[in-house]
This record gives sequence, structure tokens and C-alpha cells, in this order.
Amino acid sequence: TMADREGLIWLDGEMVDWREAKVHVLTHTLHYGMGCFEGVRAYETDRGAAIFRLQEHTDRLYRSAHILGMEIPFSKEELNQAQKDAVAKNNLKQAYLRPMVFFGSEGMGLRADNLKVHVMVAAWEWPAYMGEEAKTKGIRIRTSSYTRHHVNITMCKAKANGNYMNSMLALREALDSGCEEALLLDNEGYVAEGSGENIFIVRDGVLYTPELTSCLDGITRNTIFKFAADLGYQVKEKRITRDEVYVADEAFFTGTAAEVLPIRELDGRKIGTGVRGPITEQLQTMYFDQVMGKREAYPEW
Ligand code: PLP
Repeated sequence: TMADREGLIWLDGEMVDWREAKVHVLTHTLHYGMGCFEGVRAYETDRGAAIFRLQEHTDRLYRSAHILGMEIPFSKEELNQAQKDAVAKNNLKQAYLRPMVFFGSEGMGLRADNLKVHVMVAAWEWPAYMGEEAKTKGIRIRTSSYTRHHVNITMCKAKANGNYMNSMLALREALDSGCEEALLLDNEGYVAEGSGENIFIVRDGVLYTPELTSCLDGITRNTIFKFAADLGYQVKEKRITRDEVYVADEAFFTGTAAEVLPIRELDGRKIGTGVRGPITEQLQTMYFDQVMGKREAYPEW
């Protein structure tokens, strides 16, 4: 199980034995979802394990906590070091990292004056999110019957624990219907994002992605903006309807977990030629080269 692995987890400033990194059943965040986290990845490079865009992930964790009104009792530098240590002390070559900020079991409800913010970072080895084949073949997705958060119901610029109940419901529905992922529409019916991914479509050589109104400000999304500009492609942020996805030449998801993942079908409609499109492939190749330290551009990442 996830709980009985060998290794070390960074918890509140110390490395603790993986199996001892426990919380009580009355943990506040477990009950109310008030907490935030990150999904970060380290890749094997010539320089050893390198955490991709670590600073941006740490910055977003602080923004998430700020939105929730939680104060992280560590500096950003300490959190960066904690993530590096979680990889190094577990001797990982490549890893998924999960930093999390949560209220412990010191108090219940927000009125308790003894609420305490805890921070943990776990890192473990991780295979391709949806399997190796999906990276070239693409995935089948369905429009979810669940709506992405209204801008005033839970805060989707925070990568908040509570937001993921909606994502899990959408993902379960998609998996139950034989698809690999869900596409959530916003409150007005426009395309928002996947359960844990941003979406791009390509039409006549131009990339389109939804504005950030009701989706997470994805770091991979931002990476694609940079790569597309470097390649001379235009990226437009705009409202997208589901039928625009049906008739797109190409579509792909982006995310730390999903990386750059082609979408070959939405709601049973083939997208483009039904295989990974050429622009998707170009961006995906750049992405893998970048995270594996094979590109000279963006050394600060
Ligand atoms: N949208 C949601 C809801 C997510 O959970 C994620 C993953 O963190 C993303 C988009 C993609 O963000 P990123 O590229 O920063 O991983």
C-alpha cells in the first residue's frame, strides 16, 4: 500500500520514516478539504534527478495556501530544499512529488484557536501516468456530467484538496464509461479542463486553450505557451465549445502527471485523423527533451 513503503517523508521540517508519517482520524483537512497540494516531477537527467520547474510549483503552493487563508510556516527556500531532499534521501532517479499543506488534528472547525498548519513532502517512483502507449496513440475522453467549479464555489486557482472531489467524480464517470479521462465544462457550458489537466486544441495551425476563468493555472500549460512561441505557433486563450473540440485538427492535455498527452477521441467523435497530430508531437518531443535535460533553452527550469 502507499502507507507501508520503505523510505522517508519530509514532515514539518524533519525526515521521518515513511510508515510513521501518519495523521489522526480527526485531521481537519480530512473532514473539510481545507488544504492544498502540488504535483511535481523529477526526471532522470545527466545531472542526476532534476525537479522540473520546482520554483513555479512552490510559488503556486504558496498562492494556493494564500487563497485558502492558510499560512505556510516555512520559507519557500525551505520548501524547495524539502522537495530536493525528498528525492535525494530516497535515492530516486525519477519521481512524483507530493507536497501538501494541511490543518492537523489540533482543532476542529475554523473557529478553533489552536489550528495548526502542517506541511509534508512525499516522493516516490512513478511510471507513465496512462501508460507508454497513450503518449503516442492518444486517449479517449468524454464530456463529464459534472461541471467545473463556478468561480465562486471553491477556488480553482488554488490547487486545493477539496476541489478534487469534483475531479474524482468526473474521472470515475469517465473510467466507468470506458474512457481514460474526463473533459469538464464550466458553469456556462464552455470547455474548462480535464480532471487534472489543461486542454489545448489545434485548428489550422493555431493553438487554442480556455482562458483561466475556471481552470488551474497549469505550469505545463505555461511551458507549452513558451514552446509554441519558440516554434512560431500562435496560442489563443479563448472560450471553447465542446463541438470545437470535435472538429479540431488535434487536441491534447497538459499536466505534470499527464505531461503532453494526445486526445484521439471525445464523446465517440474522432479528433482529426484519430492519431497524435504533428503539432502535438512536436510540442511533446520538446517537452520530454526539456524535462530530461536535453535542451539548452530555459536552463532556469
Ligand atoms: N488542472 C487541474 C485541475 C490540475 O489538477 C492540474 C494538475 O496539477 C492541471 C490542470 C495541470 O497543471 P500543471 O501543468 O501545473 O500540473
